[in-house]
Amino acid sequence: MKLLVATRNKHKLEEILQILKLENLELLCVDDVDGLPEDVVEDAETFEGNALKKARELCQASGLWTLADDSGLEVDALGMAPGVYSARYAGEDCDHAANNAKLLYKLDGVADRRARFRCVMALCAPDGKEWTVAGSCEGRILEEPRGTNGFGYDPLFAPEGYEQSFAELDSSLKNSMSHRGNALKKAAVEWLAQLS
Ligand code: IMP
Repeated sequence: MKLLVATRNKHKLEEILQILKLENLELLCVDDVDGLPEDVVEDAETFEGNALKKARELCQASGLWTLADDSGLEVDALGMAPGVYSARYAGEDCDHAANNAKLLYKLDGVADRRARFRCVMALCAPDGKEWTVAGSCEGRILEEPRGTNGFGYDPLFAPEGYEQSFAELDSSLKNSMSHRGNALKKAAVEWLAQLS
């Protein structure tokens, strides 16, 4: 069975491939399929809304079973911001460094550093059925960026039980405890019947 994964990010595809190791499952990314929309606008107010929107639109355009995810960072002291705006926290077309700088600025002098990454995965079938699973990873925001692995807010996020940031940890260790890893592990169990 073919499964379209709504991403151009090869790291995500690799991570998904490692966890959704199901026989007969051929993963395709958006670059493998002709005629798909360039981008799906992520304008929903929840991770679930955005993941479902991406999966639905690409499923309809491709006629293939489609998996999409949406994820982001929630910071307690900032009322759960940046949330669904994580990618563009410092403005449209901003980069990860600008987002991290804004986060540090907003948390300057704030003692409560609790935060979590969240991820929702959505699966859509060509007959219109759809499913979602969620995963999260608790941690805290550091006082300064540390490490060079990973992407996004990784240099500022230390998962619970670790002094190191995600960007200092080995990628396989990060994947084993990350929000995306946790959502994928649930997907592999809960969607076994659909994906076999
Ligand atoms: P996406 O939905 O996976 O594209 O994630 C949206 C944004 O959330 C990214 O641009 C990052 O800023 C942030 N983010 C999501 N997952 C991670 C992660 O594993 N590490 C660091 N930042 C992340």
